[in-house]
Amino acid sequence: MLYYSLNHQSQKVSFKEATILGQAPDKGLYFPEFIPALSKDFISNISSLTKEEIAIEVIQPYVGGTIPIEQLTKIIAETINFDFPLVQITDNIFSLELFHGPTLAFKDVGARFMSRCVGYFVQNNNKPITVLVATSGDTGGAVASGFYNVDGVNVVILYPSGKVSSVQELQLTTLGNNIAALEVNGTFDDCQQMVKEAFTDIDLNKKLFLTSANSINVARWLPQQFYYFFAYQKWIDRNNPPVFCVPSGNFGNICAGLLAHHSGLPAEHFIAACNANKVVPEYLSNGHYQPQKAISTLSNAMDVGNPSNFVRILEIFDKKFNSLKKVLSSYSISDEETKSAIGEVYSKYRYLLDPHGAVGFLSLQKYLDDHPSQKGIFLETAHPVKFYDVVEPIINEKISLPDSVKSIMNSKKQSIKLNADYGQLKNYLLQ
Ligand SMILES: *Cc1c(COP(=O)(O)O)cnc(C)c1O
Repeated sequence: MLYYSLNHQSQKVSFKEATILGQAPDKGLYFPEFIPALSKDFISNISSLTKEEIAIEVIQPYVGGTIPIEQLTKIIAETINFDFPLVQITDNIFSLELFHGPTLAFKDVGARFMSRCVGYFVQNNNKPITVLVATSGDTGGAVASGFYNVDGVNVVILYPSGKVSSVQELQLTTLGNNIAALEVNGTFDDCQQMVKEAFTDIDLNKKLFLTSANSINVARWLPQQFYYFFAYQKWIDRNNPPVFCVPSGNFGNICAGLLAHHSGLPAEHFIAACNANKVVPEYLSNGHYQPQKAISTLSNAMDVGNPSNFVRILEIFDKKFNSLKKVLSSYSISDEETKSAIGEVYSKYRYLLDPHGAVGFLSLQKYLDDHPSQKGIFLETAHPVKFYDVVEPIINEKISLPDSVKSIMNSKKQSIKLNADYGQLKNYLLQ
């Protein structure tokens, strides 16, 4: 399996090169040269398989022999060593809980898989690789936890001082060792700008082996297909496959679901659940793709004005608007609606949503109101405790902390303060 750049100027590369490079030299996203078809037997026998067997079957064609099967099996086992429960909420709505990993958000699967692939690929390098990443919150923690103590890899995370939640800050600043947290006196956009400058600095790249760990990396994107197969495995009504509803920001997760569907995963329909950042809902309603400046909302991991993975979705559908529209719908949910969904679902069904999951629940409910014979699954992408400052005042109760959070609450924050100035970042990296 080779990967081509969606900008079509760079050479095709293997999974190994695509993972190490992150983005193609022509700045395009990498895309697999064909989408593998899963066997009918695999789908019809899915209930008899373990989640590790499912994951291997799905990912192996994409890895294309760049990682030997014994090693890949080990990587998979470590990537998904927690639960992915499917919980029924109403008659027709189910929650796929993706927050049981170490940093309580779905990004753990992609970050754990990518970090172990990178660790494997660089094991015989004489020069360590530096993973440089800017975060608005969730990515940093997942990447820090995923790469923690991976040999031959140093991680440098930039985050905007005072603009991530306290749980998120502890998750990215308390590990130490090969993980460094740079606390930037500025915004997320400043952090991202500094990281971009580092990647294009020829002098710096001669001295350091730099790569990124954001969601455009194929090794973070592709393993997200697992969720949809795990959900389908638990779906009882095989004659009526589920509608999948995915809280979306950069559209990596839903793009993985659509890719899985293209490979043979049964699904009735897909819904991209968005907050006030509604480039895609508008595109699907009027055919115009108009990137916007990101708007801040309660579901902040989805505050993206120009979703990077949307080009991959278009590629899956051969850029055919009508084929895409048949499979994908999208809704935009306001903060007010998000809050009332959290309150209502908790009082009616005793199920606590986080703000991202609430956008998912409500989008799915709207769709099912118009399609009453169908049933659906929304992906609950984060644990509500990560957003306790939003959730607690709505339900008027304290949320109890999971053990993984309790243990870091007493750890010491270790960060290096920087101004939003590329020169300072460069000095730090070269020291
Ligand atoms: C990152 C994130 C999203 C958005 O996922 P994309 O793949 O960027 O669309 C949704 N919810 C949570 C909690 C996240 O951390």
